[in-house]
Amino acid sequence: MNCCDLTPAHVRAIAPYLPGKPISELARELGLAEADIVKLASNENPLGPSPLALAAAQDALYDMALYPDGAGFALKAKLAGKCGVAASQIVLGNGSNDVLDMAARAFLAPGTSSVFAQHAFAVYPIATQTAGAQGIAVAAKNYGHDLAAMGAAIRADTRVLWIANPNNPTGTFLPWAEVEAFLETVPPQVLVVLDEAYGEFLPAAERCDTAAWLACFPNLLIVRTFSKAYGLAGLRVGYGLGNAAVIDLLNRVRHPFNVNAPALAAAEAALDDADFLARSYALNAAGMAQLAAGLSALGVEGVPSRGNFLLARVGDAARINTELLKRGVIVRPVANYGLPEFLRVSVGLAGQNARFLDALKACL
Ligand SMILES: *Cc1c(COP(=O)(O)O)cnc(C)c1O
Repeated sequence: MNCCDLTPAHVRAIAPYLPGKPISELARELGLAEADIVKLASNENPLGPSPLALAAAQDALYDMALYPDGAGFALKAKLAGKCGVAASQIVLGNGSNDVLDMAARAFLAPGTSSVFAQHAFAVYPIATQTAGAQGIAVAAKNYGHDLAAMGAAIRADTRVLWIANPNNPTGTFLPWAEVEAFLETVPPQVLVVLDEAYGEFLPAAERCDTAAWLACFPNLLIVRTFSKAYGLAGLRVGYGLGNAAVIDLLNRVRHPFNVNAPALAAAEAALDDADFLARSYALNAAGMAQLAAGLSALGVEGVPSRGNFLLARVGDAARINTELLKRGVIVRPVANYGLPEFLRVSVGLAGQNARFLDALKACL
């Protein structure tokens, strides 16, 4: 009998998160130069970071001997102004994954449950199991969330319900009016985590000031990230917006100094770079159109997506993925999401998208 044998069963039952394959790893395996590899596997920003964010992070490095501001005062002040909430309604995370995990640790425990959709972001079941709670997966509707069925799945012991809008890996999107109407029906003892990781990629007509809902729904936690449209995935910074009482609970389980100083500085600067955000949006819209048209020309079905990625139904996805890797193209298999016929492709630069489409054509 050793320490591992005595690990709680709910920890051993966790299926670990599977990240996209790093470029350096494939380069080693194939003996290729890293520059010859195209990675469209992790929904990263193909423009890189905002130049303002990069300069701010570089400046912050000089102070790396000092602990960061554990309260994130300056970033929260800027976010409060931008989102129309009080600083006490904001929690900062080491990536938004950290905020999702805080929500699970603060609101879930053995004997409770959380509700999420089939094909929804993998971190929801992982965070739920880590907290020792039971995950309830609700069958998807057209690859997306079936809100009515999710509401019906809420049990007396349910404490958290997760919604990703748009969702990853499917890219599906629920009109905000439907989400707002659903929130009216959720019992107040259930925390609704609304994950808006891809919100910046929505066209203007489909955006919504969801932070304004916090006044009506004290059980709502909105989660956003700097990893996608803002191009700061490697620095790890995201945030949650909620009622001050919810945020207070999250802060109790938050690790001290969870967001490092370069990340705080870069995020603050990125919020000021409206031009970069507009370029990210435009590049994504053009690249999405290029990928959708290219897939259609190959006779490959794509799931319409509001994110910076889309699902392509390639059939034997495991085989096609191996063939793409041999051609130096990294995309994301999603069999672990219950989607074994699909590959998820992130929108890249025009040349990267073309490399993917050419490689796919060659191995179909
Ligand atoms: C990428 C992603 C996140 C963001 O993760 P970070 O930890 O902020 O990098 C959160 N939710 C979903 C659905 C995502 O796809």
